[in-house]
Amino acid sequence: MTAKIVTVVGSYNVGLFLKGERLPSPGETVIAAEFVESGGGKGSNQAVAAARFGAETRFIGRIGEDSYGHYALDMYRRLGISTTSIQIDRTIHSGVSIILIDKEGNNLISVAPGANLNLSPQDIDDAQSILQASTIVGFQLENSHDTVFYALRRVHEWGIPTFLDPAPATPLPDDLYPCIDIIKPNESEASILTGIDVTDVPSATAAGEWFLQQGVTVALITLGRAGAVLVTADVRQHFAAPLVEALDTTGAGDIFSGAFLAAYARGQALSDAIHFAIYSAALSTTRLGVIESIPDTNEVESFMKTTV
Ligand code: ADP
Repeated sequence: MTAKIVTVVGSYNVGLFLKGERLPSPGETVIAAEFVESGGGKGSNQAVAAARFGAETRFIGRIGEDSYGHYALDMYRRLGISTTSIQIDRTIHSGVSIILIDKEGNNLISVAPGANLNLSPQDIDDAQSILQASTIVGFQLENSHDTVFYALRRVHEWGIPTFLDPAPATPLPDDLYPCIDIIKPNESEASILTGIDVTDVPSATAAGEWFLQQGVTVALITLGRAGAVLVTADVRQHFAAPLVEALDTTGAGDIFSGAFLAAYARGQALSDAIHFAIYSAALSTTRLGVIESIPDTNEVESFMKTTV
């Protein structure tokens, strides 16, 4: 039997969270009550989620030769994520996000992408055999765009399904769209890419149709608590999200992507994979953190049975 493998080409940023009473003003120092360090970055979050949902997972990215990079490698090894295509960049630091949070949950974020921006077309060529052995390859836009576009084109040429989470959103070259099998923007990303103000199911459907006109095969637009809309050549379908008491929606889109990639790689039908992704992401919003909030597959499956 051929292995079902999810490969993610993407970013790693360590998240340094400082939580206090209030945010500092420019020039001011405040004392934070709490400090948490957590692995993040869209690519890394999606790979971690895919692995947690049972997929054999490989990550292609760049980290620095520093404690944050080692922390990432340890985390991937613990989760069974293959690290053979992670380059350790000796010229620059690992990606770092510093997140200041006040008692109401308002935040200030600054990101230094570091090694993520050095992921190169050569790294993609070096990982050719891993990419070619994948069931599906996931991409986002937190690395050098030229490298992501190059990788998407190569993987598509090799006949491997491509999945793009176009975040942070940036206009894409027209000729890239036919290389994207599945695109998965949220409302604001879909609005930036299509020029359509996406706020609800009809406007998300219109955006999905726009993506199909550009050459994408499957458009999947997520709508937060309103679930997601699927548009393919034959289908226009709204998938509702279950009602949950959301506590922290940070990273819900990444968990959606990781869950979808894992379900797709297991061979689930598109609608079943979307259903699984929606329930996984919804459940994650009831917990704090991003990778800390990823439920396990059994939990999602029983949640799917108990909710209508
Ligand atoms: P992003 O995190 O990229 O902004 P969304 O906000 O669209 O993406 O959320 C992605 C998915 O997470 C949704 O499709 C849904 O399944 C789930 N989700 C997000 N917010 C909620 C919520 N308040 N209630 C239930 N599910 C949610």
